[in-house]
Amino acid sequence: FPAPNSDIVISRSCVPKPIDCLAREVGLLSDEVELYGKTKAKVQLSIIKRLQAQPDGKYVVVTGITPTPLGEGKSTTTIGLVQALGAQMKLNVFACVRQPSQGPTFGIKGGAAGGGYSQVIPMEEFNLHLTGDIHAITAANNLVAAAVDARMFHESTQSDKALYNRLVPLIGGERKFSPVQTNRLKKLGIEKTDPSTLTEEEITRFARLDMDPSSVTWQRVLDTNDRFLRKITIGQSPTEKGHTREAQFDITVASEIMAVLALTSSLEDMRQRLARMVVATSRGGVPITTEDLGVSGALAVLMRDAIKPNLMQTLEGTPVFVHAGPFANIAHGNSSILADKIALKLVGPEGFVVTEAGFGADIGMEKFFNIKCRYSGLRPHVVVLVATVRALKMHGGGQTVTAGMPLPKEYIEENLELLEKGCSNMRKQIENAQHFGVPVVVAVNAFKTDTEAELDLVCRVAKAAGAFDAVHCSHWAEGGAGAVALGQAVKRASEAPSQFKFLYDLELPIADKIRIIAQKIYGADDIELLPEAQHKVELYTKQGFSKLPICMAKTHLSLSHEADKKGVPTGFVLPIRDIRASVGSGFLFPLVGTMPTIPGLPTRPCFYDIDLDPETEQVNGLF
Ligand code: ADP
Repeated sequence: FPAPNSDIVISRSCVPKPIDCLAREVGLLSDEVELYGKTKAKVQLSIIKRLQAQPDGKYVVVTGITPTPLGEGKSTTTIGLVQALGAQMKLNVFACVRQPSQGPTFGIKGGAAGGGYSQVIPMEEFNLHLTGDIHAITAANNLVAAAVDARMFHESTQSDKALYNRLVPLIGGERKFSPVQTNRLKKLGIEKTDPSTLTEEEITRFARLDMDPSSVTWQRVLDTNDRFLRKITIGQSPTEKGHTREAQFDITVASEIMAVLALTSSLEDMRQRLARMVVATSRGGVPITTEDLGVSGALAVLMRDAIKPNLMQTLEGTPVFVHAGPFANIAHGNSSILADKIALKLVGPEGFVVTEAGFGADIGMEKFFNIKCRYSGLRPHVVVLVATVRALKMHGGGQTVTAGMPLPKEYIEENLELLEKGCSNMRKQIENAQHFGVPVVVAVNAFKTDTEAELDLVCRVAKAAGAFDAVHCSHWAEGGAGAVALGQAVKRASEAPSQFKFLYDLELPIADKIRIIAQKIYGADDIELLPEAQHKVELYTKQGFSKLPICMAKTHLSLSHEADKKGVPTGFVLPIRDIRASVGSGFLFPLVGTMPTIPGLPTRPCFYDIDLDPETEQVNGLF
């Protein structure tokens, strides 16, 4: 292990190649590339059509065991693996990763560009703002929120006729429906095109969405860990005439629009998904959508650039798409389908695309298969499961570790007994990957305190548990050269037969789908639907949303719903507190136990270390 350097020092020590050169190298035409400075570019979706006849490359998903709060190096391994496959083994490669949220960057975890000598560079560009996609999502999301409350306010203060006249104003002596309004008429079954011919009953139905304020599921968002916005009261100014209601903020990366961006397959598909999003239910029980609010076209406009994947590079000059960044515990945790599809074409049939699914295999990987692959139609060839000695020791009974605390003795000294005990978690996560019929390669991400005996033990247990192969790697310390054994194992595994299958059938009732995930993946005895969740099961079934896949919102720190239960917890019943519907992105979203949908800041957040050097304009202290 070379002398440790901070991630930002390593990132800055490497001069990135001009992004237009990299774009040319990977086969992009200059017309298909929009430069954002010297190190980032957006790629136009027209490339999908140009390359449609090109066979896809091999598709690899990186996942992990149940992590410590520090992270076990999935992003680092994703980047290390592509550096090994690309820069060392000279294969065509692409890494497809999520854009990090600024919540964790300034909060507990720091950046997400990988680490050490396996990073996306420049890491400060990657971690802060990128090309503004998350800001666009925040703007689009909050436009919907403003539209919901404004509409309820106007409906409460105006007669049906007055509302109608404002919604369909006289322009040049003539009233005309806008395209969005024509769609609403169709939905209501009113077959008229001339606004002056609507009956009074039709005017009322058209003009009044009649949203029940207590049914509003659409929340405001921001990309900051601001725990004091978890519950708020809006409308307190006298100008809102007493229309106060309790609401909340979620973090942007848990928003439905982020999920839409990650799961969409084209501009047209995104426009339709943005129109389908359900924001509330009317007093008559009808789901109210963004299209009903008339805002869906504006949303597509706000998201027009965000839909294009962002091209960056690794420390060793291999290409990376950074696109979409849903959290994995409270959202579906996977980067965009569009980036994966474009990358698979660009690398060609002998190449590799490596993408990462957030948190442990019970979380991001399950959602990768059951949600992302269902919508993309793509079938992965290999699962890489990242394990660390430190996290396995924690599962074996080692003290809980948190950011900033010195690692207890058992983590820095050899302890084979603790480690072997904790390997139970890895065995279960290998089994979880095997449920989907894809070969699993275990990557033991080596830390400098790990001993050979410890690393070998983990590999032995992994192979005995049915992994296709297990290797330890040192890409954090050595870059791609430290992950060549992993690259070779992944290449061999990609040639092995795989019989991909989903875990559950979409036709099953909502509760059955949740139960299958809880029992097969988490090891629960059963699930318990609490009253609010039971009510939502009935409501969504009635509203026709029961055939959607499931996106569990569960802690990532345990296979169970209780973060402090390590290893492989047994004998528990999984409590489902509530269920939300993300109809536009296309999943139902059960909330397991008490999962906050916006994180908070710790006593000593990462921002304490971050500063700007006014002389050089350099960012210091990011890691
Ligand atoms: P994950 O993607 O699993 O959350 P990351 O790849 O972001 O984890 O890594 C978490 C942190 O651990 C990062 O700061 C990274 O630099 C550091 N890290 C990862 N692997 C190693 C390693 N082998 N040795 C030391 N630090 C590491």
